[in-house]
Amino acid sequence: MNLLADLSWYDIQEYLTGEDRLILPLGAVEEHGPHLGVGTDFIEAEAIALGVGKATDVMIAPTLNYGMSLSQMGFAGTISLRPATLTDVLEDILHSLHQHGFRRILIVNGHGGNTASIASAVQTAAMDLPGLQVKNFQWWTDEEAYRVIIETLGEQTGSHASLGETAFMLAVRPQAVKMGRLTGRDAPVLPSRELTTVQNFAKLYPDGIMGLNPAKATKEAGEALLKKCIEICAKELKQWQ
Ligand SMILES: [Zn+2]
Repeated sequence: MNLLADLSWYDIQEYLTGEDRLILPLGAVEEHGPHLGVGTDFIEAEAIALGVGKATDVMIAPTLNYGMSLSQMGFAGTISLRPATLTDVLEDILHSLHQHGFRRILIVNGHGGNTASIASAVQTAAMDLPGLQVKNFQWWTDEEAYRVIIETLGEQTGSHASLGETAFMLAVRPQAVKMGRLTGRDAPVLPSRELTTVQNFAKLYPDGIMGLNPAKATKEAGEALLKKCIEICAKELKQWQ
């Protein structure tokens, strides 16, 4: 596997003589209900990235563990970048990668709060970086990937610390899952024009779970989801001209 962190600059220069693709996993450090570790989002993104790297030999950059989680700051352990900080960090990463010859970047994003900053950074960087192409994969918004959870667990849309995400963690980091802590309550995400912020998140979702009670999550569903995510991303890389 081509882990950028394990390679010397000689190795990376050699990789870049015949290749310009890179996998960049992004995560967050934020509450994930009473039952999942705060590293959930970067743990999941990294698990997908490692699987894709193994399947394709495309180089994997170190995971950016921190993300934009301001709305979760009412919960102990959440560590957030501000949206503008994350945008700046991503732009700097894209500029560095481009300078060395990376052109096609597959972002594996593990956290919804990062999405706006990713779009902002990519739009801005693209103004200055000829040939830059970026794809962004997010397992819970990807229709093809999430179908696995719809079919196995019946949760219709990907949410936060609910069925799909709990299944994912049972598959990739079971020691960070404490099913005995669940309260058994559903926390449906109701349509609203009000944006979710630190002012209202903890009132709407007091234990930090958004969505259905994840008690029925299974390791098998999580493994199937991970496998599907790896397949989709590997295909995106292989077909990327
Ligand atoms: Zn998450």
